[in-house]
Amino acid sequence: RKGVVVITGASSGLGLAAAKALAETEKWHVVMACRDFLKAEKAAQSAGMAKENYSIMHLDLASLDSVRQFVHGFRQSGRPLDVLVCNAAIYRPTARTPTYTADGYEMSVGVNHLGHFLLANMLLEDLKKSDYPSRRLIILGSITGNTNTLAGNVPPKAGLGDLRGLAGGLDGRNSSAMIDGGTFDGAKAYKDSKICNMLTMQELHRRFHEDTGITFASLYPGCIATTGLFREHIPLFRLLFPPFQKFITKGFVSEDESGKRLAQVVGDPSLLKSGVYWSWNNNSASFENQLSEEASDAVKAQKLWEISEKLVGLA
Ligand code: NDP
Repeated sequence: RKGVVVITGASSGLGLAAAKALAETEKWHVVMACRDFLKAEKAAQSAGMAKENYSIMHLDLASLDSVRQFVHGFRQSGRPLDVLVCNAAIYRPTARTPTYTADGYEMSVGVNHLGHFLLANMLLEDLKKSDYPSRRLIILGSITGNTNTLAGNVPPKAGLGDLRGLAGGLDGRNSSAMIDGGTFDGAKAYKDSKICNMLTMQELHRRFHEDTGITFASLYPGCIATTGLFREHIPLFRLLFPPFQKFITKGFVSEDESGKRLAQVVGDPSLLKSGVYWSWNNNSASFENQLSEEASDAVKAQKLWEISEKLVGLA
């Protein structure tokens, strides 16, 4: 049978490119988990995806209720779950004030981390039940959360501190809207959320890999400077960022190429190892990359896990 892969945020950018790459192999049925149904349908059609290779299901990660409804709806569909890709994200670099999810959490961490944290925990049960030979749970990471890289050192740097803001509810009232308890910074909130994504992947690996055989992985697909992720950035940035990445840092990858990279992490037999943060060199060869000290801190990962469980209602 075909493998079934759920990809969150498959209506644009990397998620769409990966959905297309996987659908084209005819070996996968892609469930596009998106907040805007019509946009996703149009995107799939203009990417030339054949009807039988995908379906679209509603998921708004800014609402934990929507996450629970998605899981319920997915189970009702009767499809098995073989691979889950937590890809959706928002980035609000120019925001001066925080916005909040339906549950009252700062939006970047709420969508990128907490929504996915609940989704991954719930769907773990479904992955366990699948009879597919290689089951995987993938969470998108990023270089920007990794302070052991040049890009990761562009201010404001990521940093979760002692997690006091998150523990306090990340609500901007009783506690700070930032994980470390500091003043709100939209760019930092995104980077922090990406550290959470990478820590969560490793904690999943530690907790569940041995017993379940599921592969847990994260990746940095390269700088895809043309995606919608930068839609809220100032116009001059949006104009100069793609050529800067192409000619100066040479970290630029096309959406097509990034989609192929993510598709490898989904299905390629050579990328089966669990607990790995994948990256690609300039010749597009994959390698196991090193995470920064904070993004691989096992004590912090456990603390993050326990606080996140409470915030999403799992504990
Ligand atoms: P895009 O903005 O193009 O895609 C993000 C997707 O997330 C969109 O489909 C968007 O939906 C969806 N999304 C946003 N908010 C929600 C929500 N509340 N509920 C459900 N879906 C939502 O960005 P990219 O493709 O660039 O980013 C994809 C992933 O890749 C992210 O995790 C990002 O951190 C990571 N990444 C990107 C890099 C880059 O250079 N671009 C580099 C490293 C990592 P909609 O279409 O409705 O807006």
